[in-house]
Amino acid sequence: MVRKSLRSRSRRRVYKRLPGGSVKIHYEKRKPSRAVCGNCGVTLKGIPNLRPNKMIHLAKTKKRPERYFGGVLCSSCSREKIKEFYRKVQ
Ligand SMILES: [Zn+2]
Repeated sequence: MVRKSLRSRSRRRVYKRLPGGSVKIHYEKRKPSRAVCGNCGVTLKGIPNLRPNKMIHLAKTKKRPERYFGGVLCSSCSREKIKEFYRKVQ
């Protein structure tokens, strides 16, 4: 039986197939919730929901979309924001 602290359901069970063909359960901490749009609250696409220790190994370009408000606002909200900005300028 596994360690007592790992028997809790606060950790998720990941089934790993080992090189020998057998399957073993790994107990990992649960993933964080998905990033949401700061304006409308829709879940953002193109952003991985990984724990910070996994996130640090990703390239900056893999962490959020490369556009204005990328990783903060959804595509439709950022479109409106950009339009709003250029209407104010002219
Ligand atoms: Zn939005």
